[in-house]
Amino acid sequence: MAADKIAVIGGGAAGLMAAVSAARRGARVTVFEHNDRVGKKLLATGNGRCNYTNMNMAPDYYGTRKPGQVKKVLDCFPPEKAVALLEQLGICPRYRGSLVYPNSDQASSVLDCFRTACTGLGVCFRTDSHVSAVMPAPGKRTGGEGTGGSLRDKETAGWLVTAGGRTYPFDRVILAAGSKASDIPGADGSGYVLAQKTGHALVPVYPALVQLTSGDPFLKGLAGVRCQGTVSLCIDGRVVAEDTGEVQLTQYGVSGIPAFQVSRQAAPALEQGRRVTVLLNFLPQWDREEAAAYLDRRAEGMRACTLEEYFSGLLNKKLSSAIIRRVGLKAAAPAAEWSRYRQQLFRQITAFTVHITGTRGFSAAQVCSGGVDLGQVNCPSMESRLHAGLYFAGEILDADGLCGGYNLHWAWATGYLAGTHSARKG
Ligand SMILES: Cc1cc2nc3c(=O)[nH]c(=O)nc-3n(C[C@H](O)[C@H](O)[C@H](O)COP(=O)(O)OP(=O)(O)OC[C@H]3O[C@@H](n4cnc5c(N)ncnc54)[C@H](O)[C@@H]3O)c2cc1C
Repeated sequence: MAADKIAVIGGGAAGLMAAVSAARRGARVTVFEHNDRVGKKLLATGNGRCNYTNMNMAPDYYGTRKPGQVKKVLDCFPPEKAVALLEQLGICPRYRGSLVYPNSDQASSVLDCFRTACTGLGVCFRTDSHVSAVMPAPGKRTGGEGTGGSLRDKETAGWLVTAGGRTYPFDRVILAAGSKASDIPGADGSGYVLAQKTGHALVPVYPALVQLTSGDPFLKGLAGVRCQGTVSLCIDGRVVAEDTGEVQLTQYGVSGIPAFQVSRQAAPALEQGRRVTVLLNFLPQWDREEAAAYLDRRAEGMRACTLEEYFSGLLNKKLSSAIIRRVGLKAAAPAAEWSRYRQQLFRQITAFTVHITGTRGFSAAQVCSGGVDLGQVNCPSMESRLHAGLYFAGEILDADGLCGGYNLHWAWATGYLAGTHSARKG
């Protein structure tokens, strides 16, 4: 029997994993990639070190409209599986807490291992090939749960992929064209259009894991501050997300991992005209009572000092100057003022408000929230519920993970499942 012919649209993390998984099951795989080479985004991951999974895995670490579908995928593909599969390709894991990197600390070595595996398995790379259409071959009857009968019964002729003015026939197609996040070439969102043209619905797409912007004038004076802090994202005054780590204050707003982690809800809320703020707690190591007790004790012991001296060694100098000014005091004021302005100062130290006006947009984002509705995709096979023989993998789907290896894990998991299931048929 002739081998299945499978097209993978997109040579990113998900597409490469799908290609290897399908080819290992005997399929003849062609990867279409519109860049001049595969894996460009993969090279940029983890600051070039590629944080490729996280041993602390749960559906809660993903944003999606269909958490049950995400759970089905993660249940079939835990982090141990990602580590084992990548190890088979030659990637020795290095654990930093629960985060996993290649021991080489080079994202390029992860890409090299996939390329080597693909070459060994006879995967064909068609680079510089922009896919402009993916459609069922004429005469193909499409499946779908609502149409009665199983998808398999209804599957017939196959799929046509148009790239660079030519149309190629395939038995099955895996759409792994990623999102429109980052300024890395290739991230143009054209995969969403391909999915929509096959009738798939999109959950609205927004930048996520992205810096938050603000017009607050005091930020100019805070540019360059890096400090430990908790960032709480508030929508209409209610805290909806929170994260602690190294906060970076910039001229345009708030950056750093904690800002990224809470950012996914900012863009849609702003679009709906809702009020978005972040509260910064610069003493995240203590709860409120402990922080208050410490600050009171410190004030008592430093009554003879100035406020500037009181804050010296406690907070970054630019930050303490802004806090003192926001309360309407002077740096040279006596620290004894602490007792009079205690509440206001405490609020500025533990709930410093920044009004958010936007995000740095798709080009600065690491991922997108939203994407192909998982309700129209069978999990864990990753096959379309609308069309037999059409599969989805990676960030094109409506699932975005937190920083920490969750997005690559999603790419490996869905790539593996789509590759395996697409090649099992026939
Ligand atoms: C700077 C940065 C750092 C990151 N670091 C991490 C990290 O350390 N850990 C982590 O888990 N996640 C990280 N991420 C997120 C992670 O890289 C992505 O979630 C993941 O790469 C998505 O894989 P994918 O295969 O779905 O999409 P992509 O990697 O984007 O691959 C899609 C491919 O499809 C191609 N393509 C698109 N449309 C077409 C078309 N019409 N025709 C032909 N080809 C097409 C694109 O050129 C691209 O090569 C990072 C992201 C960025 C931007």
